[in-house]
Amino acid sequence: MYSGCVRLRKFKCPLCNFISNKVYGLILHFRYVHFVFSWKICPLCRQKLKYKKSTFFHYLKKMKEGDLLHAFYYLSSVRYAVSKYRKEAMKLIERKCAVTE
Ligand SMILES: [Zn+2]
Ligand SMILES: [Zn+2]
Repeated sequence: MYSGCVRLRKFKCPLCNFISNKVYGLILHFRYVHFVFSWKICPLCRQKLKYKKSTFFHYLKKMKEGDLLHAFYYLSSVRYAVSKYRKEAMKLIERKCAVTE
């Protein structure tokens, strides 16, 4: 009954109408179109950040609380993201952005 559902699933950007067949494509889109690079303040929730490192932890912490946009920011800003958290962020995005047509 559910066969084929996984393949038919698509992923929609939370900020515009962009739709991708793959989670990774959506993450790349987000990075190029919506991501704002900032060390001093979080562009999403306006929280002030003291150090470069705290930016990383801020995105990670909010991502772990289930915040979708921070998950995108985490993946966009941290190239060397710990793979465990990277997977977690991607799963969150997969879950929240999936659309069926
Ligand atoms: Zn978008
Ligand atoms: Zn924030």
